[in-house]
Formats: sequence, C-alpha cells, structure tokens
Amino acid sequence: VSDGGNKKTSRVRVAVRLRPYMGKQDEKGEGPCVRGLDSQNLEIINWRNATETVKYHFDVFHGEQTTQQEVFLSSVKPILSHILNGQNASVFAYGPTGAGKTHTMLGGSEQPGVIPRAVREVFNLVKAKDEDEGWDYSIGMSYLEIYNEKVLDLLSPSSQDLPIREDKDKNILIPGLTHITISSFSDFDKYFVPASLNRTTASTKLNQRSSRSHAILLIKVVRTQRAITHRQQTGKLYLVDLAGSEDNRRTGNHGIRLKESGAINLSLFTLSKVVDSLNSGTAGRVPYRDSKLTRLLQDSLGGSAHSVMITNIAPEYKYYFDTFSALNFAAKSKLI
Ligand code: ADP
Ligand code: MG
Repeated sequence: VSDGGNKKTSRVRVAVRLRPYMGKQDEKGEGPCVRGLDSQNLEIINWRNATETVKYHFDVFHGEQTTQQEVFLSSVKPILSHILNGQNASVFAYGPTGAGKTHTMLGGSEQPGVIPRAVREVFNLVKAKDEDEGWDYSIGMSYLEIYNEKVLDLLSPSSQDLPIREDKDKNILIPGLTHITISSFSDFDKYFVPASLNRTTASTKLNQRSSRSHAILLIKVVRTQRAITHRQQTGKLYLVDLAGSEDNRRTGNHGIRLKESGAINLSLFTLSKVVDSLNSGTAGRVPYRDSKLTRLLQDSLGGSAHSVMITNIAPEYKYYFDTFSALNFAAKSKLI
C-alpha cells in the first residue's frame, strides 16, 4: 500500500469482478452489456447510443473467466500477513443482488471463495511463524450482521442489538459479541457453517434478508510476546458481504422494506463517502460515525489498515443501471 509519503491514511484498493453471462436471452436478446478489456479496464455500452461504450479503469479488473483462486491471490492474500503483526484489514464485496458477492466471499464447496481461503491462509501463516521470534499466537472469530442499523450476533441468534464502543486507543469494541477461539480450519467451519445456514434459511422467510443486511465475519489474531513483558498485539480481519447496492427506490418498497432500504442506502452511501475521503486524501473529516457499518469498521478501514473493495457486477441488461452506479461508485473510490 502506497501512502504517497506524508499521508497518514492508507487507501482502499478497488477491484471489479464481472461474473459470467447467465441470461438465456435477455428481453431483446442483446447479450452482455459489459465487456472486459484487460486486467485493469472494462467498458459498458452507452445506454443512449449502443454503438458507443463508456470505459472504466480500476486497480484490478477480474474478468468473467477469473477463478476464485485468482481473486484470492491477487486481491486478498497480500494483505493477510499484516494481521499477524497487529495491523487490521478488511475485504468487502459490493454490488447489486445477483452480481456475485456471496459467490466471491463464500463460494461453494466446489469453488470456495475468499472467506474459507483467507481463514485457511491465516492458520497456515501462524503455523509457519518461527518459534524463535518469540510470540505465541491465538486465533478467534466473531460473526455478525447489520440489519436495519442493528448489530446482531450470528453466533448467538437470540441476542439483541449490540452497542459499538471505542476504547482509549481508538480500538472499536462490541461488548457482548460472541468471540470464539478457534484452533483449526475445521474448528472454524464448525461454527461458521451453521451460522451462515441460519442466515440463508431466515432469508427465504424474511424477504431475502441476506441481500438486505451486511454479513461481517471477524477473524482476530492475538499475539503475545513470550519475554517478561508479555506484550500483546491484536490484528483484526473483517470479511464483509455487503447488502445489495441496487436502487431500492425504483422497486416501490413500502413499510418494512422501505425502512430496510433507508438503512441500506445510509450505510452504503456512508461507506462510499468514507472510502472517497480516504482515497482522495483530503484533510476533511472521515464520516465514520454516520452509519453502524462504517463505525464498526472504523479501526480497520483507513489509518494503518489494509483494505480492498471487490465490486461485483453482472453483464445482463437487466442490471444495467445498477451496474452503472456500482461502477461509478468504484471509479469514484479509486485513487486518481
Ligand atoms: P449476490 O450475493 O451478489 O446476490 P451471488 O453470489 O448469489 O450474488 O450470485 C448470483 C448467482 O450467480 C449465483 O447462482 C452464483 O453462483 C452465480 N455466480 C456469481 N458469480 C459467479 C462466477 N464468478 N462464476 C460462476 N457463477 C457465479
Ligand atoms: Mg448474496
């Protein structure tokens, strides 16, 4: 991460991932409306004039052929070593519902995504640490959801909205959040899989709640120095499957859905402002406190933290306007 010399905060890397075309034949049989050009550039057809395209440039562009392994190696693996040294990191999947956020973050048993790969890698990195360096490592996890601006513990489903606090060293804490020490990947799986299933099952009953909440997995690495002082350092890794970025106003939501939409818009809009102010390096206030999502991530986004946002997009025409706004969000977030 380049800080450009005297800037205090690190920037957020912005990657875009285009999923394969899945439309049989779109309404008018148009085929894909987005096309990759190379490893940093893509184009989208101009809505008003289909003979023209609008081009975008990003830190990384992952085309539709990109494998889960390639996404992990290029966008996520490089930041993992930092959390063993007491630094924080975050990985977000952003984009409209149906564009591949959950595929990217979670994946399936055949094609595991960022989450299982990152957790395995953290265990490998700890295992490979040299005894002689004099630190003992411990790995733990929490898993939560932000839904309607409420912080909910997915490892303790009956819990109520949890508070977000900051300690004197500006670390963000969530008192009452379940934290489980895990000793292996299968240990992780044992807690994570049922909690994820809970979330998916609830989603079919509750209007696809999973696309309307932010799912946040926290992996915490604590290291303790064996020497007399027993100095401790904590590194946090947040792996976030964000709520769908589609414009909910267009679909004419009422009541509870309208309230959900307001909460989603608030948190994603605030996230965009936070990323924008971090990446533009302007001296202004970073508006972390304007939403639960950004407040919770405050110590792991910006500052000395290492962050990457993977913007997922879909090539079919029915996603056109959501793709366009996701690309503009990502393009704006990119450092110029
Ligand atoms: P989101 O979480 O953003 O709503 P999903 O991850 O559920 O989207 O993806 C929607 C559908 O597209 C799923 O059936 C998923 O398996 C498929 N999909 C997404 N990305 C890819 C990809 N890169 N390759 C193959 N299938 C994909
Ligand atoms: Mg999803």
